[in-house]
Amino acid sequence: MREEEIAAGLSAVRERIAAACAAARRDPAEVTLVVVTKTYPASDVQVLAHLGVTDVGENRDQEAAPKAAAAQALGAQVRWHFVGQLQRNKCRSVVEYADVVHSVDGVRLARALGGAAERHRERPLDVLVQVSIDGDPARGGAVVGSTVDPDRDFDRVAVTIAEASRLRLAGVMAVAPLHWAAEAAFERLGEVSARLRAAHPEATAVSAGMSADLEPAIAHGATHVRIGSAVLGTRPKLR
Ligand SMILES: *Cc1c(COP(=O)(O)O)cnc(C)c1O
Repeated sequence: MREEEIAAGLSAVRERIAAACAAARRDPAEVTLVVVTKTYPASDVQVLAHLGVTDVGENRDQEAAPKAAAAQALGAQVRWHFVGQLQRNKCRSVVEYADVVHSVDGVRLARALGGAAERHRERPLDVLVQVSIDGDPARGGAVVGSTVDPDRDFDRVAVTIAEASRLRLAGVMAVAPLHWAAEAAFERLGEVSARLRAAHPEATAVSAGMSADLEPAIAHGATHVRIGSAVLGTRPKLR
């Protein structure tokens, strides 16, 4: 039964989160579990909601938009987190169903999202700045102290979000680079979060940690962990 499978994955992940919080002397209530449902159907979202999951994540608008509508039609009440690379021409669609966008890493993207939110939604949209941990502009993420590409400058991205009337600057997000130890990557993200909070005290969210590395993420202050395979099963390899 799919429900039993998901329930088992979910309880294992909840135990890992509780153990990581105990080790870090943190209150588990500070850590939001976002179950990443990419490649899995809306019926799984319904099961997750039934099991008490309040937050789900998706990384592609083409998949997320119809799934959010289908899950709502099934009666699943969840908050949708957009965690993937976002193209400017998808902003209009994303602001219609997303409650939180974790992955804004450019000034032009922030402006496009702010404009779409003003035109197509009433409530403010929570937005996190995606951070490039290794400063390599070839991959996703805004660069702290960037000089190469002003569009990707972390401070400028943050200010652009903060100044948009229908966006709420909520914090930072990162994916640990492959060639970095997760510990070092999340320690670095913690430093970037402190830098952001110095200028924007309300931007407290730290989105870090996936199935393989949620423990070091929680040790370094994650407030949101984004967990897919450990709850829902191993996804088929993409191409
Ligand atoms: C898929 C995905 C996750 C979840 O990954 P798992 O390893 O399955 O837990 C987290 N964050 C982002 C940005 C993702 O695309």
